Amino acid sequence: MYKMMTPGPTMVAENVRKARSLETGNPDLDMDFYEFYRDTCKLYSELLHTKNESLILSGEGILGLEAAIASLTEPGDRVLVLDNGVFGRGFADFVSIYGGNPVLYTTDYKRTIDVEALKDYLEKDSDFKYATVVHCDTPSGMLNDISEICPLLKEYGIVTVVDSVSGMFGNEVDVDAWQIDILCGGSQKAISCPIGLTLVTVSDAAKKMMENRKQPVASFYANLLTFKHYYTDKWFPYSMPISDIYGLRQALENIKEDTEMQKRHEEIAKKTRTALTRAGLTLYGENGYSNTVTVFRVPQGVTAQQILKKMLEDYNIMLAGSFDVMAGEVIRIGHMGYNCTEENMTETLEALDSVLRKLGVLLNAPVSFAGI
Ligand SMILES: *Cc1c(COP(=O)(O)O)cnc(C)c1O
Repeated sequence: MYKMMTPGPTMVAENVRKARSLETGNPDLDMDFYEFYRDTCKLYSELLHTKNESLILSGEGILGLEAAIASLTEPGDRVLVLDNGVFGRGFADFVSIYGGNPVLYTTDYKRTIDVEALKDYLEKDSDFKYATVVHCDTPSGMLNDISEICPLLKEYGIVTVVDSVSGMFGNEVDVDAWQIDILCGGSQKAISCPIGLTLVTVSDAAKKMMENRKQPVASFYANLLTFKHYYTDKWFPYSMPISDIYGLRQALENIKEDTEMQKRHEEIAKKTRTALTRAGLTLYGENGYSNTVTVFRVPQGVTAQQILKKMLEDYNIMLAGSFDVMAGEVIRIGHMGYNCTEENMTETLEALDSVLRKLGVLLNAPVSFAGI
């Protein structure tokens, strides 16, 4: 296997892989599994500092985003879509698919959303059923300050949907203090499971909004209401991927035990940015850097493809390019979850230093943690 230093999926701890290989029962008929599922959801809620109920859905991170939008949106609803990144703008598509009217609030993709400017905007227009915002917009590595944005939206009576798939656990998330109504997560980012599960925390306000719909949700698989009585009725809307959930439980237990997790992410992210800029490389964003991913511009005279190919062929390390408006422009290093260790990053930066030199890039200093 190669070393997978991408911003999701990440590498997976051995105890998580082992948990995924345990013998499995029938998750629909085994009453113990309902307890296991609910306890896993409770653990997830606890780690995100919320009393809100969490649900584990069988599907990749995108399903969580779609389920939030499908469940809240009725035809004609005005929805504020905060757009300062590829995932940010992407929410507009889901809103349209479910008949809503997305109103884009578009700002510079290299900068975080300015809370004061958003406040000025809301003073003039705040007639929105709910708003969407991305915590860490992974293609650019930009981290929005949801601790300020969500409470501001709530001041104007706007329900909040946050995509923190690649933000959570590497960056602080406090769902209750920040008044996040629906928070979307995925198994393959800092949680460090393989791809396959998405998790949502749902506030009472969001539940009420779903229950008070005039029209039914135009989906079954993306309808969060189908989970409403799962525990009392002992009936899941569809058969649960039990091995994935065994792995998730172990991964969440790992996070609970790892009291230094956030501090380590913060330190490694900061050191990575320093190492790159000291060498003369340029970060993509101008502010608001996520602790989970670092994004830098492809230096003059080389292509993203050349760097990625040489990293993999010569050093067995996989980095990522980016897509959409950033395609070919940047390289992304994922340092989230199980990847986020001093050893992994030391090895990655050492390899990156050699690759850039071999490709003829002039560097001001070695790309390295040395001396930082
Ligand atoms: C990874 C990710 C998702 C999940 O979607 P992918 O299919 O893995 O791209 C959703 N939102 C964000 C911000 C992500 O980083």
